[in-house]
Amino acid sequence: MPELPEVEYARQRLTRWTTGSALTGWDLVDPGAFRPKLSAHPTPDPLAVARLQALVGRPSTATARHGKRVGWSFGGPGLLLHLGMTGAWVEGARPRHARLGLRFGDRTLWLNDPRRMGGVSYDDDPSAHVGTGLGPDALLDGSLSQVVPSRSPIKVALMDQRRLAGLGNIHAAEALWRAGISPRLRACDLDEGQRAALTQAIRAQLTEALKALDLETDLRYVSDGGDNPFAVYGRQGQPCPRCGAPISRELLGGRGTWWCPSCQP
Ligand SMILES: [Zn+2]
Repeated sequence: MPELPEVEYARQRLTRWTTGSALTGWDLVDPGAFRPKLSAHPTPDPLAVARLQALVGRPSTATARHGKRVGWSFGGPGLLLHLGMTGAWVEGARPRHARLGLRFGDRTLWLNDPRRMGGVSYDDDPSAHVGTGLGPDALLDGSLSQVVPSRSPIKVALMDQRRLAGLGNIHAAEALWRAGISPRLRACDLDEGQRAALTQAIRAQLTEALKALDLETDLRYVSDGGDNPFAVYGRQGQPCPRCGAPISRELLGGRGTWWCPSCQP
């Protein structure tokens, strides 16, 4: 599932593929992929055709990321993007779950998304608006100031994009394991040492995950059968890489949560 590192990887690939090139055409395979505003629901924007057509001839000039969202500017106006649970941008031939194609000369970029939760929306200034409604970016800022007042379990609070933007189920679990903090502990009960350890763990987790992604290769998500490079995620019953105790799994806030009961008491 795409979280901050995977979205940053998508942003860097889009930038590399298109900066300076003009949009020459588009193929809206699934009208639900172009939405009136960013959401996980495939609601079609009735103005999609006019909005896409207005971008034709304009050069791709900049991309920005905030949390799991990307703003893509075409000399001012442009698109906001998010990848949902299974979305990815790929280049080349039309993939099996193509939702939207954007052509730049002889190169076509596709939003491929089996589960249709990813999508795009038009914005008159995506660079400026990419972070609207979101908490601080987990990598560029990393402040937990909006997380720690929460009375929710820390794992749930970390995944609330209005409190901290960028972490999802995988990287929240991995960062808590690194910091040695139980995912069940209420955010407001973290002491100062735990806050500092968690801030550092989140940065290390995201930095390492991003470093491991190869821009030359299409990414296969763990949930889609790709390799699992993570310490606790998806590993119930397996030995903790740090202490050897078996990894536990339980539902927390409706999501599968993995942790080491010994390192994260
Ligand atoms: Zn352990």
